[in-house]
Amino acid sequence: MLNPIRLLLLGPPGAGKGTQTTKLLKQFPNLKTVSSGDILRQHIRNGTRIGVLASQFIKQGKLVPDELITKLVFKHLSTFNDSWILDGFPRTFIQAQNLSQYLNPLNRDISLVIELDVPDSVIMSRIEERWVHLPSGRTYNDTYSKPKVPGLDDITGEPLVKRSDDNKLAMQTRLKEYKTTTAPLKQFYKDRGILTTISGDSSDVIFPILLDAILEKSREAL
Ligand code: AMP
Repeated sequence: MLNPIRLLLLGPPGAGKGTQTTKLLKQFPNLKTVSSGDILRQHIRNGTRIGVLASQFIKQGKLVPDELITKLVFKHLSTFNDSWILDGFPRTFIQAQNLSQYLNPLNRDISLVIELDVPDSVIMSRIEERWVHLPSGRTYNDTYSKPKVPGLDDITGEPLVKRSDDNKLAMQTRLKEYKTTTAPLKQFYKDRGILTTISGDSSDVIFPILLDAILEKSREAL
């Protein structure tokens, strides 16, 4: 019997968190997943008050305020069962502390944190080629994961678009911001003995290592 998995995927934008999550969902269909970026993009698409506020930050490649994103993610988490993947949250030390304070009393704290370590040069070229299906968050790439029909989502047939923050200038800010804000975050999880880093420059190289790490964790005695 496998233990529940409560996984945080860390990694700079373009490191392949979304791609790895999609692959993991195929292996573990009962896993729930939440991407903080997808939640925000959904709000922007729907023109909500939160979306209008968030887009000011996102366009510039800046992080949205901690309280705003924390509330949104907790709302999703509260509907989840025992096993889940977090993508993009927590992103700052404060968010990690808030999350721990929320999950600890429920006995459901994060069990594993995996950082995807991909070279900046690979990330920059991936981002230039990235297309996204906004309603689902599914991503495609002109080189290594093309849609079946160019410009259209494989599942719904709806059009793919470029993310407004997938441009060179915003990317440079996001990469810099990632490094600064995640250093204390990584230390937070390292101190708890649950941080693992997987390096590689393609998702096919990273995936089997990621899967092994998750399986090993889920077989550990509770
Ligand atoms: P992502 O799709 O994870 O790359 O997120 C896109 C953008 O949404 C980020 O560049 C931030 O502006 C915002 N965002 C997503 N998650 C968070 C978070 N946990 N904290 C603050 N801002 C976030």
